[in-house]
Order: sequence, then C-alpha cells, then structure tokens
Amino acid sequence: MKASSPVQEQKNTKLLAGLCTLVTGANSGIGEAIAREYAARGANVAVNYVTDREEAERIVEDIKKQKQRAIAVRADVSKEDQVKEMFRQTINEFGTIDVLVNNAGIQRDAPFIEMSLERWQQVIDNNLTGGFLCSREAVKEFLRRGKGSINSTCIGKIIFISSVHDVIPWAGHCNYVASKGGETMLMRSMAQELGPLKIRVNSIAPGAIETNINRPVWDSEAAREKLLELIPYKRIGRPVDVAQAAVWLASNESDYVDGSTIYVDGGMTLYPAFAHGG
Ligand code: BGC
Repeated sequence: MKASSPVQEQKNTKLLAGLCTLVTGANSGIGEAIAREYAARGANVAVNYVTDREEAERIVEDIKKQKQRAIAVRADVSKEDQVKEMFRQTINEFGTIDVLVNNAGIQRDAPFIEMSLERWQQVIDNNLTGGFLCSREAVKEFLRRGKGSINSTCIGKIIFISSVHDVIPWAGHCNYVASKGGETMLMRSMAQELGPLKIRVNSIAPGAIETNINRPVWDSEAAREKLLELIPYKRIGRPVDVAQAAVWLASNESDYVDGSTIYVDGGMTLYPAFAHGG
C-alpha cells in the first residue's frame, strides 16, 4: 500500500513552488545541498559564491535543467557594498526574495593564545556580520513587497545555518564559537523584533556534516571512529540532512516556528560522554 496519495506526493515534492530564495555560500557543501534541494522543491535560487565561480555556474546550470530559475551572484558577505549589489542583482532577476539562507561560514582555527586579531576578525566578519548584513537587506525587501508571495503566509523567512557550537564550547576555535553563539542571539532578537511584521527567523545548527570545512575529522578510518564517539546516532551527517530541514523551515508547513534552532546533529548536543560518566 502506498504511504501517501499522489496529491500529497506532489504537495511534498513542490513544497517551495514559486518562492524566490537566496543561499549564501552555495557553491559547495551545505549551501550547495540547500540550493539543489530548494530547486528540486520548486524554488528559484540565487547561488551566492565568493570564489570558485565555475562551481556556482555549474550548480546554476543543473538547476535550470530542472526548469527553475537560477543565477550565480558573487559577493563577500562581510562587505556591505557587495551585499547590497547581490540583493540588487537577485531582485532584478527574480522580482523579489522570499527566503534568505545565511549559510556562508568559515573556520580559521588557532589556540587561544596564538589567535591573531586578523583570524578573529575574519571569522566574526564573515559568519556574524555577514549574517547581519544579508538579513538587513532581505528584511528591507520583505517590507517593500509587504505581503506574502504565493505559497507563503508570512512576508519572508530568514534561516541561519549556525552550528552545534552555538552551545558546545570548542577549545582552539574561540573565534568560531563566538561567531556562532552570536548568530543565535542575533537570530532570536531578530525573530522577536520582526515577528509582528510577519517575518520568521530561525536557525539550523548542524553537527559534524561531511564537507570540506571539517575534512580532517572524517577522511580516514581512525578519524571517523573518533568522531563517531561524539555522535549518539552513530553516523556522520550529510549535507542533504541539513538541506531537508532547510526546506521545511522555508515552507509554509513551519508557519508557527519562529526564533527556534533545529539541531541536525545525530545527537551531538546530548553530550554523549555523559552516557557512561558524570
Ligand atoms: C564545524 C565542523 C565540526 C562540527 C562539529 C561545525 O560547526 O564547522 O568543523 O566538525 O561543527 O564539531
């Protein structure tokens, strides 16, 4: 027996039909998976990149083959003028933006005592200030449009891709955790302020997802085994695990979810070391 009716299947596959979306850092990893999943669910997608134009263009071509609209837009999200220009280009192309995904993220690790101001600043600028600058432009556009697009009750949605390290302290990564903890409070305060304007703001906090950012912790058997000790569900995450949550948060099915963080982490935030200790 089929689990769902054809109508329901259609509804589920095209959950984002007609929505115009902008995903930052979408030329690889989690951002790429979100861009591809959004297109598969019927959204138009602006694929932001800062380096690696070719990869962004390849994703755009794949999306166009699925009969969705797509553009590659270059911008360093930490630069106000570049962010403004990215929004101008995207709105020019699609007419509006319904969903922003603040995904662009970097790590520049160092022991605390050796952490240079430059490394500190790079991570804060990109991960935290970037989220602020992009969100501010998105909110301006939501308010300009003033009513929900087709397929959306609220006038716009913002999704931060933060990290389990918004709550798990992480030695050797103080710039990164500060940016992620900051993102969470930025997201929550924005949600509180913008809810009355019918704008929803939420976060997804991924755990260990196999991408380039954390290659050393998964690309050998020994490393994987060690990593799995931190994951009660006993598998390393895939970018699509995060993308599926991002689809739901961008859709009208999550209409009553506002100011929340969804942990997509196989239980990493359950502090598994305490299963046999404490
Ligand atoms: C980091 C990864 C790390 C994961 C779990 C992510 O936010 O970018 O490098 O593997 O958190 O610790």
